[in-house]
Amino acid sequence: MQIGSVAIVGGTHGNEFTGAYLIKKWQKHPEILKKTSFQTLALLANPQAFQAGRRYIDRDLNRCFTLNDLQNPTLSAWEDKRAKELNQLLGPKGHPKFDFILDLHSTTANMGLTAILPGPDSFYLQLAAYLTSIEPALKVYQTLSQGEDSYYLESISERGFALEVGPVPQGTLHAGLFQQTEALVYAILDYIEKYNRGELTAANSPLTLYRHLKVVDYPRNQNGELEAMVHPQLQGRDYQELKKGDPLFITFEGETIYYEESETVWPVFINEAAYYEQGAAMCHTKKTEVYL
Ligand SMILES: [Zn+2]
Repeated sequence: MQIGSVAIVGGTHGNEFTGAYLIKKWQKHPEILKKTSFQTLALLANPQAFQAGRRYIDRDLNRCFTLNDLQNPTLSAWEDKRAKELNQLLGPKGHPKFDFILDLHSTTANMGLTAILPGPDSFYLQLAAYLTSIEPALKVYQTLSQGEDSYYLESISERGFALEVGPVPQGTLHAGLFQQTEALVYAILDYIEKYNRGELTAANSPLTLYRHLKVVDYPRNQNGELEAMVHPQLQGRDYQELKKGDPLFITFEGETIYYEESETVWPVFINEAAYYEQGAAMCHTKKTEVYL
């Protein structure tokens, strides 16, 4: 199936400035995104939250896109209303106007450039292999498939995924990461152009995937308050091996809490600022080589 239209979305989280300011640049200079085989749209997803410099106004917009919620007229939070508007503009989910949505995010974790793929579909794996051949520093993180009723914004379209870039503090820009993200978006658009024209050759080198295993929360007391922090020896070590016996957390009294499971894992989103309220200190993944 050809991809006739691509929406690039940023500022889904209003305090993630990398994507938001890239969108503003492309809205000012739409010719940069012009391709011959498909149309492109650059869209600021949550302008109110961006203006306020906050992740969201009432609730996380990137959790508002299940069919259930989109079709529920009683949901009246700002982000629920905005999700319905975006669904009108880009969707509706199930019969979308846009074939592909790229959602630009940033993280306070040391994740460099990360493509977050929604599943093991070979389209995504080929695209990821192409992108890593151009940008070897790109990491590919495969989340658990949410099936039909995903709550992510890109689930409006048949295809799409999110880019994460970091570490960037919330509400700030990092020029180097801004430019790396921009270059990666252009490589994605080039790939889609080649895909539409049938100009791609299948990748034959192995692709390194980090497959999601689970979310790990901070140690908390009965009131939900933190009892420990990410251990300084783990801080910033996203995508690096964590083995049984390695330091995981440290309490406010200075006591180290060790990783005690026998399975070696590769943590990501370590100490992501936005995830404190979501009950996540990090996500554990398994590093896997995939032969395409
Ligand atoms: Zn985000």
